[in-house]
Amino acid sequence: MHPSPPPEGHSDQPVHGVTNTVVGVLGGGQLGKMLCQAASQMGVRMAILDPLEDCPASSVCHEHVVGSFNDGATVSEFAKRCGVLTVEIEHVDAVTLEKLEKQGIDCEPKASTIMIIQDKYRQKTHFSKFGIPLPDFVEVDTLSSIEKAGEMFGYPLMVKSKRLAYDGRGNAVAHDKKELSSVVASLGGFEHGLYVERWTSFVKELSVIVARSRDGSTVCYPVVETIHKDNICHVVEAPAEVPDKIKKLATNVAEKAIKSLEGAGVFAVELFLTQDNQVLLNEVAPRPHNSGHHTIESCYTSQYEQHLRAILGLPLGDPSMKAPASIMYNILGEDEGEAGFTQAHQLIERALDISEIRKQRKMGHITIVGPSKYSVKARLDKLLQRDAYDPK
Ligand code: ATP
Ligand code: MG
Ligand code: MG
Repeated sequence: MHPSPPPEGHSDQPVHGVTNTVVGVLGGGQLGKMLCQAASQMGVRMAILDPLEDCPASSVCHEHVVGSFNDGATVSEFAKRCGVLTVEIEHVDAVTLEKLEKQGIDCEPKASTIMIIQDKYRQKTHFSKFGIPLPDFVEVDTLSSIEKAGEMFGYPLMVKSKRLAYDGRGNAVAHDKKELSSVVASLGGFEHGLYVERWTSFVKELSVIVARSRDGSTVCYPVVETIHKDNICHVVEAPAEVPDKIKKLATNVAEKAIKSLEGAGVFAVELFLTQDNQVLLNEVAPRPHNSGHHTIESCYTSQYEQHLRAILGLPLGDPSMKAPASIMYNILGEDEGEAGFTQAHQLIERALDISEIRKQRKMGHITIVGPSKYSVKARLDKLLQRDAYDPK
């Protein structure tokens, strides 16, 4: 029995884990689910706010509040039951988070960070002020301004929506001046906010997960290579096969970028490696990330446990890999509806039949951990019933 009721946002249940602080998460998708799974091992209580009754996290959290993380009143009400508030998606009501912070609610990372990140143009402007290397970019709001940008940067030209982008939705490529107006129309016109980026013909895409504690100290996960299919992260190879000096450069760029933002948690930094060995920042996610799924099986501390440690003020864990190599394969539905579901299930069944596979988590990805890059790639080929490794 407690001598007095616990403060708001703290469970009145006995503490069996590391804390009785209730962690509130805006969003209950796959990332929220894996956060809850890590929390369960740590004995941390999780409350989820998500509009979908049967969202992925609903089966593994302590409490699921059905409601929108974009509605100010709902988020404010939800915050009352949480000792610390965090996100598994950046497209949340950041203005409300800012108000809540003023009222003393602990948001990690900070509302200012979510606000910068959720607008990609604002994000790029922010990082350029801090001297982070980026592809050239400029805001466009009329046909003549985008034509001018095309002359400046050349073609192909990457046109991006400022807000609500994910999985490449919100990006479109113009191959010449004639395509500009149709590309702009395909993104919903100038009204919602567009900007353009110089096309980067990268040799690899890399990602670094950086964790920052409440006192500002950081640790970085090993640099990984991400391979995209139709703009969606499809395969992650850990560690990335690049020279040590590139790993160092990528880690430095990522750490510097995250140090310019406020708040605790894990952050993913998506990077381009160019032919002339430059590392440019593509974008940052202020939360656990697809490129860090492999850390569940291959690192001493998963990105999910690390995020919880960071926001709860616990010491950060060791981010290093405990095996020489791992590969993460994202199962992407190839067909709509039932057929796609069956394909995914068949793949998972095959995965479980191969004894070397450490574990498969959620219905969305498979991680293979092994003694070498060659061996994990060969096992992935066997699993996918194909002859040679081809991530695409
Ligand atoms: P996510 O799901 O990662 O949030 P997103 O919708 O925010 O994706 P971006 O990360 O901006 O989209 O871009 C998706 C992909 O498009 C990148 O991973 C990269 O492959 C390609 N891409 C983005 N910007 C450029 C660029 N300037 N030049 C060339 N390719 C690019
Ligand atoms: Mg994005
Ligand atoms: Mg991206």
